[in-house]
Amino acid sequence: MKIQLVEDEILDMMSLKNQYGVFNNNMMMLLDDNDKNYIEEIQQLCLEQEEKIGGINGHNNADYYDWFPWAGKHALINRSNEYPHRDDLKIGMKAELLRCWTMDIFNPQFNMAMGASTLCINPIVHHHNNRENLLKDLQDLLDGTKIGCIGITEPKRGSDAVNMTVKAEKVDGGYTIDGIKCYTTNSPKADMVAVYAVLNEEDPRGTMVQGISHKEWDRGFKAERIGIPSVSKVHIGKTIFEDSFIPEDYMTGGPGEGYHILFEGLVPERIGIAATNVGQMWGAFALASLYSTVRKQFGTPPGTTKILLHQAVGMSVLAKYHSRLISITMALLKLAEAYDAKRDELAGISPFMNPFVAMASQVKEQAAQLVHELTYECMHAMGGTGVTDQTKMPLIQGVSEIAEVVGGTRNVQLLIGSRTINTMVKMI
Ligand SMILES: Cc1cc2nc3c(=O)[nH]c(=O)nc-3n(C[C@H](O)[C@H](O)[C@H](O)COP(=O)(O)OP(=O)(O)OC[C@H]3O[C@@H](n4cnc5c(N)ncnc54)[C@H](O)[C@@H]3O)c2cc1C
Repeated sequence: MKIQLVEDEILDMMSLKNQYGVFNNNMMMLLDDNDKNYIEEIQQLCLEQEEKIGGINGHNNADYYDWFPWAGKHALINRSNEYPHRDDLKIGMKAELLRCWTMDIFNPQFNMAMGASTLCINPIVHHHNNRENLLKDLQDLLDGTKIGCIGITEPKRGSDAVNMTVKAEKVDGGYTIDGIKCYTTNSPKADMVAVYAVLNEEDPRGTMVQGISHKEWDRGFKAERIGIPSVSKVHIGKTIFEDSFIPEDYMTGGPGEGYHILFEGLVPERIGIAATNVGQMWGAFALASLYSTVRKQFGTPPGTTKILLHQAVGMSVLAKYHSRLISITMALLKLAEAYDAKRDELAGISPFMNPFVAMASQVKEQAAQLVHELTYECMHAMGGTGVTDQTKMPLIQGVSEIAEVVGGTRNVQLLIGSRTINTMVKMI
């Protein structure tokens, strides 16, 4: 923080330890002992890191990409996928939710950057075919020694992502890729990208490919940072492929397979975004509820009434959004449990028939809208303190502003929803 305004006692009250305390108390009836121990272990690591970086000043000043090796060392980058080089970890969608919530309370923009690296991890997990080079990439990404990103969106193709124009061409030993991707989270900092391209623009579904390119050996893969003020700590890029060459060994999907991988990836991506939104909300809610119990205004004598006791703060904001937050938290836990239970059953199913497609869109649409509303309300329940750099609230508020657009806008999720209703009725 530039200048400390808030008294030590109040800042101490809003410590990461107390934020976790608020979160844990809310999880008390929802999690079993095993899950509680799991989140407490992650929290302990984050509390140590919080101390090491110097609290809020560390969060305001650090380059979060420097934290990847720390997170990777402790398996904090992703928990939805099996680690091919480790078998001692709690894995699954529920484990990933709990990791997300704990990491988002620690730092939501750092977790966003790790989430984008996970989008490069996901296709490698499912399509490495035991190739050593891809297994090495997987290990490096999960260990945080390398950073990844995913290139789907193009300047002229956003919501209509399937009809992409970035061109792939089959050449001796691999594919060349030419064209521009945009809004690629992490690409200016990333070591590798999972990129989609089409052999024939007029047949994107039948000719879409996916491959992994590395800056280290592919001189045709470059990235320039673009400005997205809401998430100023995350590097988001215009990603340029100019005579880029991906050897066959690094191709995760051949012609047409790329289209399947694109859809396969959307389910974990959207559940993951909803999960991070819920984690961000717990961060904002915890800060506002802690603050509201120590900040006093009015009363007799003046300055003796906790702001929580003013009904406009305690009921109209905190209690109201607490109930919405608990509801979406329980919905996501249920979804993650169902996802984990059905994982083997659905492993071979076409991504277009996966019943979780609709649910992923539904929770993403709802969480993205709620995080923006809840964060705004919690921030302003803290008055001036909420908008200063004394707490992580501005970092949360920033990510809440981009929640609707990442992973597909509200309308795209609702488009999927309306098609689902049609299918559901036809299935009767
Ligand atoms: C911070 C940030 C990070 C991102 N990270 C990545 C990343 O890592 N990798 C990546 O590939 N992409 C990434 N994206 C891109 C993101 O997925 C797209 O921005 C998003 O899909 C929307 O595309 P667009 O911006 O081109 O908007 P457009 O598609 O131009 O949409 C503009 C508006 O039109 C509406 N609209 C469009 N089509 C329809 C329709 N058929 N019916 C109704 N309404 C419609 C939209 O809902 C929206 O309101 C990121 C974006 C941001 C802002």
